[in-house]
Amino acid sequence: MAFRFELQCTDTSTALGTPARRGVFHTPHGPVQTPGFMPVGTQGTVKGLTIDQVAGTGAHMILGNTYHLGLRPGHEVVKTLGGLHAMSGWEGPILTDSGGFQVFSLDGINKISEHSVIFRSHIDGALIDLTPEYSMQIQESLGSDVAMVLDHVVALPAEKDAVQDAMERSIRWAKRCLEYAGRADQAKFAIVQGGLDVELRVQCAREMAAMNFEGYAVGGLSVGEPPPEMYRITQATTPELPQQKPRYLMGVGRPIDLLESVARGIDLFDCVMPTRNGRNGYAFTDAGPIKIRNAKHKTDTSPLDPNCDCLACTRHSRGYLRHLFIVGEMLGPSLLSLHNLTYYQKVMQGAREAIEQGCFAQYMATKKQQWGIE
Ligand SMILES: [Zn+2]
Repeated sequence: MAFRFELQCTDTSTALGTPARRGVFHTPHGPVQTPGFMPVGTQGTVKGLTIDQVAGTGAHMILGNTYHLGLRPGHEVVKTLGGLHAMSGWEGPILTDSGGFQVFSLDGINKISEHSVIFRSHIDGALIDLTPEYSMQIQESLGSDVAMVLDHVVALPAEKDAVQDAMERSIRWAKRCLEYAGRADQAKFAIVQGGLDVELRVQCAREMAAMNFEGYAVGGLSVGEPPPEMYRITQATTPELPQQKPRYLMGVGRPIDLLESVARGIDLFDCVMPTRNGRNGYAFTDAGPIKIRNAKHKTDTSPLDPNCDCLACTRHSRGYLRHLFIVGEMLGPSLLSLHNLTYYQKVMQGAREAIEQGCFAQYMATKKQQWGIE
């Protein structure tokens, strides 16, 4: 069997109803240790880093973007170049999203129907008819290890009728994706929708769980709602998902959001935050965030984070990193992206070790204290 989720142990120390989980998701391109964080490689590259640097941060699996890669270079070009693995040189597992989130968030929508969503390309304005089947076809050409089903995402806040309509369409579209999919070496993950409504989330989770997906995602969160709302919905959703399948919280988030969600039974995450913030001169550390452009770092010879073994921290000073940002050298954003991804992986590795030892609650409390979070 190409895919298998090995649930190794659970930790109930956080006492949030669902235990934190330690597992391994086996894929054709290797294992993914969970809880795990996937760096985002939107255009077939994690911005500013080489594949060896990405692997060096400890990342197991990366994310590619169906919407962007489907527009440029186009899925047939990616296929001709040998698929996303061969094209990018990344030899580990890759997950691709379905394009749904971009279509619904980039505001180029022309028409949504039961059949498809028709949207305008943000590149050349061309109309594209994205059906669930076409999303799967693109992802099969990309050759990712995990394909996400096309879902209907609604912006929040929204009326219950609109959220319910999108949730029910997401279930029908998920079924169509499953029926279309033809690659045995590609896992299909369903996406639970339902906005901030527990009743809708539970209904969606149950109906998705009744279909045979290799994994389950919680989508439509981290779209501007307060974090406690995201935690509440995650906590209500995970008990409805199969124990023996991986669970992925899409687009989340800050380090604290990762730990709060691990405490609620989530296994996988992706987010642009470590790389996007890195490019903007914002570093995550055990002592809290650092804005490297700040004048107080001008003559500082100390490392960005003395506890970090990344290139930025072992070879360079805060003063030098600040200089790179001030003069606009591309190495600055690259080094801070490398550091932030290394930091995220370290936080997740710590979470895995804590779960193995049954002390995840203590680990999370310590991290919150270090980050200055109540
Ligand atoms: Zn570092």
